[in-house]
Amino acid sequence: MSQSKCAKCGHSTFEMVENTPERSQFPVMFIQCAQCGTVIGVQPNENIPALLHFIKGMLVEMMQKSGLSTRYIED
Ligand SMILES: [Zn+2]
Repeated sequence: MSQSKCAKCGHSTFEMVENTPERSQFPVMFIQCAQCGTVIGVQPNENIPALLHFIKGMLVEMMQKSGLSTRYIED
C-alpha cells in the first residue's frame, strides 16, 4: 500500500482539527496536513455509531423500567 501524502507539500502526517465553518451550525472535524494545514477531508464532529449505541442503551433501560418489550431493539 502506498503512503498517503499531502497534495500541496508532500508531507505524510495528518491530524484531526475541530472547526466550525462560517454559516455552519455545528462544528466538524477537518482531516488536514500536519505540516501545512491543507484540508484533505471532513467528517462529523461526533462518532455517530458510538452516539447511537449510547442512545440505544438509554432507550433499552427506560423501556425495561417501564415494563415495555425491548425484543425489537436489543440484539
Ligand atoms: Zn501539506
